[in-house]
Amino acid sequence: MIFAALLTLMALAATIPFIWESKSLWYKTGLERILLQVGKIVGLAAAILLFFQVILALRLKILDRVFGLDRLFHLHKLGGLTILILAVLHASLVIVPEGIKNLPIGWKFWPEMLGGTILLLLLVFVFTALLRRKLLPYHLWRRMHRPVGYLFAVALSVHIFNVSDSFLKGVPNYSLWILIGTVSVVVILAKLRSFIGSRAKLPIAGYTLQNDEVVSLKVTPPPSFSHAPGQFGFLRLHGEDISSEAHPFTIASAPNNDNNTLQFYIKKCGDWTKSIVPENITSASIQAPFGLFSYTAQPAAKLLVFIAGGIGITPLLSMLRQIGTEETPPRVMLIWSLSRKTDMFLGDELKSLQDRLPQLKSHIFYTREKGGRRVDQEQLAHLLEGVPEKTRFYVCGPENMMKQTRKNLKDLGFSGKTIFWERFGL
Ligand SMILES: Cc1cc2nc3c(=O)[nH]c(=O)nc-3n(C[C@H](O)[C@H](O)[C@H](O)COP(=O)(O)OP(=O)(O)OC[C@H]3O[C@@H](n4cnc5c(N)ncnc54)[C@H](O)[C@@H]3O)c2cc1C
Repeated sequence: MIFAALLTLMALAATIPFIWESKSLWYKTGLERILLQVGKIVGLAAAILLFFQVILALRLKILDRVFGLDRLFHLHKLGGLTILILAVLHASLVIVPEGIKNLPIGWKFWPEMLGGTILLLLLVFVFTALLRRKLLPYHLWRRMHRPVGYLFAVALSVHIFNVSDSFLKGVPNYSLWILIGTVSVVVILAKLRSFIGSRAKLPIAGYTLQNDEVVSLKVTPPPSFSHAPGQFGFLRLHGEDISSEAHPFTIASAPNNDNNTLQFYIKKCGDWTKSIVPENITSASIQAPFGLFSYTAQPAAKLLVFIAGGIGITPLLSMLRQIGTEETPPRVMLIWSLSRKTDMFLGDELKSLQDRLPQLKSHIFYTREKGGRRVDQEQLAHLLEGVPEKTRFYVCGPENMMKQTRKNLKDLGFSGKTIFWERFGL
């Protein structure tokens, strides 16, 4: 529905240069007129997409339920690049009919110059986002990305209202105000919700150091909290020497578990996770649940194959724990690839799951141990011999491992529609 609304909005905006012609079009004829009209339409499409970008980044549960947050964030990235391309096209198409010699420079042309400045900054903004891994630590980039994104929306609105007399009054003027008003209300409500959520401090029910790298943290959930196995939340930790920024972590416990706690397994891999000293954590806040990576989100299947790389086991563990409580559980195969034996942090848990689920087949691979190997196509072909075509696959691990596994499964004849995956980077 949201995409239908977006397309409708764009189609309606495309009528503006024809019905509410601006003065700049009065003296243009032929190709020049067409170029200018197309330039205006492209500019309006970029503006609508920019407002849409703001909505996509708000972690709205209503959108997450339909698309999944990781897909929304992926769309957000694609959207940024599309806006940049449209903005370059817009600038070129509106400049060409006027002639390069007549560039709008000077105070009189401040709305046009504002547009040019937005374009230049957008170029820097989008490329910083695309290359962020190489340029900046994630938390610094994120701190800058959000407010600058809002500033773009404000600057763009000022540009549109002032650059074209089509927006001085009448339907285009009201419509733009309605769009700005609607997006602002959604942003304020979403921020308010997240602020209230971040202030609700939840007690820490316990912690365990699973090995040198992985900490298990149990948090008492808020009243009437529920989630599906495999879903994740944005976790904030409060205490000494830790920044209370929100990070996404899978809720590895099964819903309605006996201890009524939310368990997280956190791998110390970057600045923030390495700063976690469990004994110094006094409370947590959580914005959750999110995600569609759950066997409960699809119709029942006779066999589920879970393929994990490293810490990517957490959503699959939550599903296994849930399956362990079912009266008629499906058959499950777990394929888990770890670097070394010292990385194994669920030995006892897997044994107790095996006791509860005799039909569970576990295959653990240690890639860096002597004689160890990757779960490559040959290995998958061997493990999946005789597996029915309609088996469902749930894959979670490093990006390259997931890509290769999806390709291998497809090469083995399984349909892409039966393969589900979760990225651990938004
Ligand atoms: C849906 C999902 C579920 C996850 N589940 C688990 C889990 O169960 N256990 C686990 O150990 N890890 C999990 N992760 C990964 C975890 O979020 C990152 O490892 C952690 O945020 C890294 O933070 P850092 O500052 O220590 O590392 P950095 O080196 O700063 O970040 C490494 C990468 O993590 C991502 N990241 C960092 N901070 C954030 C943030 N605030 N919001 C969004 N992404 C961020 C970015 O892609 C970044 O490039 C999950 C990630 C996602 C998206």
